[in-house]
Amino acid sequence: MVPLILLTNDDGYLSPGLHALRRVLSEFGDVWVLAPEKNWSAASRTRVFHKPLRVYSAQLPDGSVVHVTNGSPSDCVLLAVLGVAPRRPDLVVAGINAGANLGKDVTYSGTVSAAIEGAQAGITSLAVSLDVAGDPEETPDYESAARLTGKLARLLLEHHPLPSGVCLNVNIPRGAPKGIKVTRLGGKIWTEELVRGKDPRGRDYFWFAGEMLSTPPSGEEDTDIWALLSGYVSVTPLHLDLTAYEALETLRILERVGL
Ligand code: MN
Repeated sequence: MVPLILLTNDDGYLSPGLHALRRVLSEFGDVWVLAPEKNWSAASRTRVFHKPLRVYSAQLPDGSVVHVTNGSPSDCVLLAVLGVAPRRPDLVVAGINAGANLGKDVTYSGTVSAAIEGAQAGITSLAVSLDVAGDPEETPDYESAARLTGKLARLLLEHHPLPSGVCLNVNIPRGAPKGIKVTRLGGKIWTEELVRGKDPRGRDYFWFAGEMLSTPPSGEEDTDIWALLSGYVSVTPLHLDLTAYEALETLRILERVGL
């Protein structure tokens, strides 16, 4: 049977990375698109509980039909899994995101969160992001990134190599990749900066700014940040267990002493 591939994208249903991926994945799967109606980048694992969710169809200029919702990227996955999709997806793909999702910043990512949601539902899932930093005049090559993702998606569908609850976070560099590195999450890739100013009514405003690292951090050759900044495709397995196991034993004293 042709696999059902659920495709979503935290940049919204009009994002070029979603459309490039839809075309490639359609070569070997039934691609069912459910994406947010607006950009939810940095939405993390937001869920919308305080209002009803709507799902409607939209026809794109190329004639394809996608499904759109007022929900978040994680909502897209759960809506599909809980019965809105025509059947249970065999694969969840979130992307291609405009911009890398790396290191300690991945918990901000709506793209990564959608893949985690898929893995939590027991479905093989991957998040895919393309580094688009740099020259704003440069057009991101979503077509090449989509072809690479297509090969990976096929491998995952054929071999199911991931343990339960584990998804893949894939980051693709600009230009032709030197190869692929399987990596761990690195540290921070963005510097934190706060810009202050006055709005036209004379009130203070604050705006988060900052810059992405541009050189690979030495001594961290096994990380996603090093791989991407060195020109490799980075593939990091992720799961949702945030427990700090190394602290459990020390904290048992609370059980013995009480509060
Ligand atoms: Mn995004």
